[in-house]
Amino acid sequence: MHPEHVVRLEIIIDPATGLRVLKVTELQKPSGELWMHWNLQRDSKRTRTVVHVHATHVVAAIYAGLALQAVSAEFPEISRYTRVGRSVPLLPALSRELADVTAECVNVRKDGTLEFDIVGQSNHGVCAVAMDP
Ligand SMILES: [Zn+2]
Repeated sequence: MHPEHVVRLEIIIDPATGLRVLKVTELQKPSGELWMHWNLQRDSKRTRTVVHVHATHVVAAIYAGLALQAVSAEFPEISRYTRVGRSVPLLPALSRELADVTAECVNVRKDGTLEFDIVGQSNHGVCAVAMDP
């Protein structure tokens, strides 16, 4: 990942709803998985980074039937620093449903805090969240 891959989007307040929304212009061309990122960042009170990758080894592990949440619990250096949520079931790439269920598996609370830092996504990849980019 390189700096030129980062698409900076402005967050504005929708005057009709009072909610924070993304302002996306036609020239910006953000990822088709923008909603996955937005679901996880929208209500954060602080800087929050979301990284979504298509890590083939993790995709293969989930495909083979491994539950990442259970596996991570067996590795102290993972479970000590990382909260692994349940994996997202198979859902269409780029879909709003994938974005929404990913947020459910990370367990985004009403106050914007998260229960988990990372979740696997069946036949797709991994979505991880941290404070420091
Ligand atoms: Zn993806």
